[in-house]
Amino acid sequence: MKNDGAALVLFSGGQDSTVCLAYALDRYGRVETVGFDYGQRHGVELECRQTVRSEIARVFPAWGSRLGPDRVLHIASFGAIADTALTSEAEIVMLESGLPSTFVPGRNLVFFTYAAALGYRRGLHTLIGGMCETDYSGYPDCRDATLRALGEAIRLGTEIPFTIETPLMWLSKAETWELAERLGGQALIDLMIEHTHTCYRGERGKRHDWGYGCGTCPACELRARGYEQWQAARAENRRRQSG
Ligand code: ZN
Repeated sequence: MKNDGAALVLFSGGQDSTVCLAYALDRYGRVETVGFDYGQRHGVELECRQTVRSEIARVFPAWGSRLGPDRVLHIASFGAIADTALTSEAEIVMLESGLPSTFVPGRNLVFFTYAAALGYRRGLHTLIGGMCETDYSGYPDCRDATLRALGEAIRLGTEIPFTIETPLMWLSKAETWELAERLGGQALIDLMIEHTHTCYRGERGKRHDWGYGCGTCPACELRARGYEQWQAARAENRRRQSG
């Protein structure tokens, strides 16, 4: 554990950023979180993040002692430019570009740039995000090459040796559940299922094995498939161990 280190986690209250928060609390002595309100069409994600933070601190007291303040930065002007399905009432469809209409151009570039400015002020020089290019929707700003280039730009632009860590970059969604279990056992899995939010439509009515959501949007489908694959791999492992 790098107990002397300090990290800032890009935290949305979703499944991936919650695993990143657990990862950071496992490694760093001081961890703060940042979220972005860019006029998402549902505030449910922003509510979930407060619940996830307080539940993590309650269920894992050692992590709670390292968990510092949270900030929500309001960047509504960015949401106004990136007027796509996620920030407006348009339906979620696949576009000719091959990207879903939920794509907000350059979102992660903006998020990390804001995070670096905040980290500069707070003395948090490790920036952690849940971007992933294994099971993903094809967003170019989630890719490792993009974020390595951005890290370099941030270091040059601030003269601070910032590092961008993306612990989920090469994991499948099933492996992300596996990492969560390794970090926090069944208690973290239960917490994620009950309190994290993934659904693009902002629905929390129906409870599935993998958590709450509409069950049919691309984000719900990805989450459901990952969970099922993880469960299947676990069952297979148990069968092998007992046989
Ligand atoms: Zn959904």
